Amino acid sequence: MTKPPKHPYGPRTRAVRGGMNRAFQETSEGLFLTSGYAYDSPEQAAARFSGEDDGYIYSRFSNPTVQMFEERLAAMEGATWCASAATGMAAVTAALLGQLSAGDHMVASRALFGSCRYVADDLCSRFGIEADFIDGTDLSAWGEAVRPNTKLFFLETPSNPGLEVLDVQAIADIAHLHGARLLVDNVFATPVLQHPLEMGADLVVYSATKHMDGQGRVLGGAILGNDEAILADQLRPFLRNTGPALSPFNAWVLVKSLETLDLRVRAMCDNASRIADGLAAHLGKPLRAVTYPFRDDHPQAEIARRQMEAGGSVVTIEFAGDSEQAQAQAFRFLNALELIDVSNNLGDAKSLATHPRTTTHSRLSEEARLLQGVTPGLVRLSIGLEDAADLLGDLDAALQSC
Ligand SMILES: *Cc1c(COP(=O)(O)O)cnc(C)c1O
Repeated sequence: MTKPPKHPYGPRTRAVRGGMNRAFQETSEGLFLTSGYAYDSPEQAAARFSGEDDGYIYSRFSNPTVQMFEERLAAMEGATWCASAATGMAAVTAALLGQLSAGDHMVASRALFGSCRYVADDLCSRFGIEADFIDGTDLSAWGEAVRPNTKLFFLETPSNPGLEVLDVQAIADIAHLHGARLLVDNVFATPVLQHPLEMGADLVVYSATKHMDGQGRVLGGAILGNDEAILADQLRPFLRNTGPALSPFNAWVLVKSLETLDLRVRAMCDNASRIADGLAAHLGKPLRAVTYPFRDDHPQAEIARRQMEAGGSVVTIEFAGDSEQAQAQAFRFLNALELIDVSNNLGDAKSLATHPRTTTHSRLSEEARLLQGVTPGLVRLSIGLEDAADLLGDLDAALQSC
């Protein structure tokens, strides 16, 4: 495997200056809102198409602004390469369909984001790619699910919305023992808090829509890795020919947003951690659980502390009571919030609350939902950048009204 590039600068410097490609000594990155490029001559056009000249051809293939985003994110992640996509789901789909063929098998953690589960399960099976969905926290289950045709392990940590934390290093070792690759959806941790490639993962995938934009404006996604062959032979042909390209405008918004990602994510984590502790005062009544990866009562707190720099920006709460009561309580609570918005997004500067069972995970069967902790009483809180005291005040008042 290719070694990741060594960067002379620290992570914050890379986030601000990585990938910069100036045309006129501009201080802000240029927005090249162009779909195509003219050539000096037919010979140059031919050389571009044959690969002898690596200039731009068409923005479905590459674009200067998109490339700045990709190079900056690769520098932040410590990856050799980054391939962007129009959305996080376009990146996940390309990562799976670019690598797997009919007759291949994948082992995936069952705690997956709803659309990831659709692609890995419903869509892949239509094209003859089989998958087993296991309890990812049970390390022996990974090896037991392996078949002779297993090519890929796929997991999300912390998971959306259950906040299950999986041991990336241990699972990467099991994958490699069986000749399979590990793909990690690192959306909840962001490149600020967790580096799956350093822990042995082969590929990392992101929704840039979440913390990277972080201000609710644009959609985007990315796949990163260190093995050039995966990009050159599998992902690039898939991305270039099927066309889930990131718009140059969105890439420009995202490349600027990466400059402040570290500051925003750390501030969100500080807020989230204070809020998780504050919410614990409501345990017993009306809450059955408050879940946050860095709290001592999280079942995988030790793994979380080992592989993440902070606990992330998401806290979940679960209302007590039987299913109908618990869901009614959750709805009463959501209706009572005055500051925090009801929305299905996350990683935003604005704090957002979601009822996963009836929104992001509504398409799954009740059985699949319950297996990943998506109960009728579960509410996901994406903590933003407001004052923690204001957020806690809003949450306390809404909980008291339940
Ligand atoms: C949101 C999300 C995605 C999908 O990203 P989009 O940009 O919405 O397509 C994938 N995985 C996780 C964990 C997510 O939270």
